[in-house]
Amino acid sequence: SAEVVLAGRSNVGKSTLMRELTGHTFDTGQRPGVTQEPNHYDWTSEDFVLTDLPGFGYMKGVPDEVREQIKTDVVRYIEANADSILVGVLVVDGKSVIDIIDRHSGPDEIPHDVELFHFLRDVGIPPVVAVNKMDKVDDRDERLNELCDRLGLHPPWKQWQGTIAPITAKRGSIDPLTEAVRDHLHEAERDDL
Ligand code: GDP
Repeated sequence: SAEVVLAGRSNVGKSTLMRELTGHTFDTGQRPGVTQEPNHYDWTSEDFVLTDLPGFGYMKGVPDEVREQIKTDVVRYIEANADSILVGVLVVDGKSVIDIIDRHSGPDEIPHDVELFHFLRDVGIPPVVAVNKMDKVDDRDERLNELCDRLGLHPPWKQWQGTIAPITAKRGSIDPLTEAVRDHLHEAERDDL
């Protein structure tokens, strides 16, 4: 059946979000470095499968080669299942995402989040960026415009509500995400007609 995948760096709140979406309890703050397999769950209110992909990026105490392997596994999984994946949700931490992207941008370095965003598009999966922890962000519009800029989307972010979804998973305010995902699902259904 139709699949929606969730990917993101460690500690962005992916487990918290998964709990909101599925009603299932997840270990938040799971011991990082334990290589996880993609896990599948039913999205409570919708008729499709949610796949929780292993967290990638910096994890305290985890060797570089393990981190690289996790990222490679995530990319392989998406590639192998691109035909059934209808939406790719990239979860980021709204408070730190710009700093992290800028710190990892260079002549021969592309930040993981930016790379994954473009990768999803390249394999034909519409990406939705769930910008989490918005409760900690004061300059909301400015921050979201900056994120658009870093992702190569023309600001203002409000033009991109099918792609940029500001949420606070911890408080259960995730409507912009569910709406963005639904939009894409309906598009996919129309395309099938
Ligand atoms: P994961 O590693 O991506 O699965 O992240 P977790 O779901 O374990 O969350 C990491 C930390 O971020 C935990 O301390 C959560 O309570 C916190 N967190 C998750 N969502 C939010 C949010 O919307 N706002 C704030 N302020 N903290 C959050």
